[in-house]
Formats: sequence, structure tokens, C-alpha cells
Amino acid sequence: MATINPFETAKSQLEQAAEIARLDKNKIEQLKNPDRYVEVSIPVKMDSGEQKIFKGFRSQHNNARGPYKGGIRFHQDVNLDEVRALSFWMSFKNAVVSVPFGGGKGGIIVNPKELSPGELERVSRGFIKKIYPVIGPEVDVPAPDVNTTGQIMGWMLDEYQKLSGNKSMATFTGKSLDNGGSLGREEATGFGGVYVFEEVVKSKVVDLPQGSKIAIQGFGNVSTFFAQAAEKLGYKIAALSDSKGGIYNPEGLSFEKVLAYKKSSGALKDFPGSKNISNAELLELPVEVLVPAALENVLTGDNASKIKAKLIVEMANGPTTPGADMVFAAKNIAVIPDILANSGGVCVSYYEWHQNMHNEKWSREQVLEKLSVQIKRAFADVLEAKNKHKTTFRNAAYIVAAQRIIEQMP
Ligand code: NAD
Repeated sequence: MATINPFETAKSQLEQAAEIARLDKNKIEQLKNPDRYVEVSIPVKMDSGEQKIFKGFRSQHNNARGPYKGGIRFHQDVNLDEVRALSFWMSFKNAVVSVPFGGGKGGIIVNPKELSPGELERVSRGFIKKIYPVIGPEVDVPAPDVNTTGQIMGWMLDEYQKLSGNKSMATFTGKSLDNGGSLGREEATGFGGVYVFEEVVKSKVVDLPQGSKIAIQGFGNVSTFFAQAAEKLGYKIAALSDSKGGIYNPEGLSFEKVLAYKKSSGALKDFPGSKNISNAELLELPVEVLVPAALENVLTGDNASKIKAKLIVEMANGPTTPGADMVFAAKNIAVIPDILANSGGVCVSYYEWHQNMHNEKWSREQVLEKLSVQIKRAFADVLEAKNKHKTTFRNAAYIVAAQRIIEQMP
């Protein structure tokens, strides 16, 4: 199978929506490329005494609606096209959910599992030494992403404050609670996805009575909070998976029991009363709802025709390729796109930034209530555009977001 370039996917999604809503061609051309991206070289003294050079990127896609905003990932396979695509999606995600930020993303080519804590700190601080002139609370606000944590944000913030002299806590979000972080951030993305899911059910675009079965790929931050909230609403969590494989029980898995089992055994495999399945099998199960919440490019032209779900809620970033999207549209499978479904995380990142800027502290209840209102409003806007243009949720979300960005572009 040819490698799927996420940046090409992102651009083709925008082109399709722009054509449907006849959006301004010149503005769309501008939106296809980031405003700026930098590649930096980070010299780091390793514990052995040797120096190693790491490569890092920061892509700033568009700031017409507010400061660039997006995470920094640490991964051995990070590359410029991935970072550019992710910064692009952040612009549209922020716009669709009405967060006054633009889109940014960063990455360092590194396997953090191979570093000692001291080396990890030096890589994190080294990256900031190279990019601090182009970030700041009103310029570009990074956050954690794959393999980056509140602790790493703490080191980065400290380094930024020392170098820039700017003491604001708001240059980074996703910080730990004792370092200016927000309550509710941990559960925001998973719960946000379920708030959107509730609205899909209410809208009756897809008929999903209580007791409908949900298969969720992933057992991490996003997927576990999604599973917990969906089970509370009366839906059956029929399948869950981690990187080693999944488990399936059409009668429903008890989320709390699975969580306890994973904690004690370290894996999902052989969970009592369930059948072991592969990650590929999980996607094709006879369930009503499929929630890819782990990786990109898992729904492709190769497996799309075998998907049996009526609704796909994209909690991972970029899980569906344009080829699979065409199949889903033809089969009338509704796809709630990542830029809407997983936008809960960036909403609460914005709340964190706001609390830091205004020296406020909100309760978890306040945060989740605001999130619920904001994300449900975004769904209503997207549904309206979907009905107006008689198109898919993805195209509708892009149309809403692109119109909002274009309105603010000089
Ligand atoms: P995580 O690291 O907490 O969990 C990822 C899960 O994926 C783990 O259970 C892991 O075992 C599983 N996994 C890894 N490799 C796999 C494979 N080959 N096959 C199947 N499963 C595999 O990550 P997360 O924070 O839950 O993020 C999941 C997805 O959601 C990512 O695409 C991320 O970009 C996206 N996302 C996360 C947030 C957030 O706030 N955390 C916000 C928006 C989007």
C-alpha cells in the first residue's frame, strides 16, 4: 500500500469543501500552506558525555483568528509533512469549535523511551532555545501531544520564561495542575466526543437506540474517557483495543472491570468473557458505532467496504483516508470528523490559556459545563451547514471553519 501523506489528505479535504460552498479561491490557496514553518537543530549533551543532534519542527499554519495553537510531539517518525498537516487541522478545529486560536504544531524526531529523564529535559529545553523567538502567549501557544507530558510543558515553560523574560504561564497549555494547568483537561477530549455523539443521536441523522454497540480502537486517554461516558449513557462498549490487540463481547464489556484488568495484567488480551481480536478485526465488527481513537490512516480504501458501523466518530486525528471517505459517503455511513469530534481537548486548552491570562481558577464542573455548551453549539452549526449544502459532516465542518477563517483573513 502506498504511504498516505497526511498533508495531501488535509489539502484534499479542504479543496472538496471549498468547491461545494464556492469559497474564495485565493483565500483557499493561501490556506493550503502554513504561514511559516521552521526546522531546528538541537544539540544535546547525552549522559555518556557525547553530543547528539536532534531535529525539530514547528509549523504555524494560520493565525487570522488568534495565536497559533497546537501540540509538540516526540516521536522517531515525526516529519515535516506530518507536522504541517497537524497544524493545518488545528486551524480548522479551532475555527469549527469557535476557539479564538489559529493552528500550529511541532515535533522532535526522538524516541523518548530511549532517553534518561535528564536527557529528555535537555532535549525539551534545547527545542525551546531554538524556537522561543517565534512563540509566546499572544503569538504561538504549544501544548503536549504524542509522548509529551505536563512535566515536559513545565520544563519548556521554565526555559521560555528564562530566555524571553516573559513570566506569563499562558505560553504553554496542558501544564500540570500545580503549574497553571486546568481542571478537566484530562477528560476533555473523550468527554467532548461523547457530547458530540449525544447530539448526533438527538439529531436522528443516525438511529441509535440505547443499547447500541460501540467498538473503540484504543485504550488510552481519549478512548477510555469516551468509553466511560458512553457506557454511562446506556450504550454497550462491545470492543476495545490497545497496540497489542483487542477484546470483543457483543453483550458489552464492563468498562470498570476492563480498566481494573488492564491495570493488573498490563494488557486487554484474555479479558474474561471476551474474545481476543486483532485491531484490524475490531474495525470490521458488526456494531452500530465505530470510534477510531488511536492512530491515523486506519480506515482506508482497502477496508472501508467491510465496515459495518452506521456511524464513525473520529477521535484520533486523521483516521480516515479520502478513499475511505468516498466509500462511506456512498454507503451512507455518517462520519463525525476529527476536527469536530476531538475538539474538546483544544477547547479546554483555550480555557487554560484564558485562566492563565486572567489569573482565574475554574472548577472542573465549570470547565465541563462550558465545554458541553461550546461543543454542542459547534455540532449545531455543522449540522446546519450539512443540511444546507446536502453534504457530509466532514465537508460541512470544513465549510463552517473555512468561512470563519476567511472572514478574519486580511
Ligand atoms: P494515548 O497514547 O493515551 O492512547 C493511544 C492508544 O492507542 C493506546 O491505548 C495504545 O495502546 C493504542 N495504540 C497504539 N498503537 C496502536 C496500534 N498499532 N493499533 C491499535 N492501537 C494502538 O493517546 P491519546 O491521547 O488517547 O490519543 C489518541 C488519538 O487521539 C491520537 O490520534 C491523538 O492525536 C488524538 N487526539 C488526542 C487528544 C488528547 O487530548 N489526548 C486530542 C485530540 C486528538
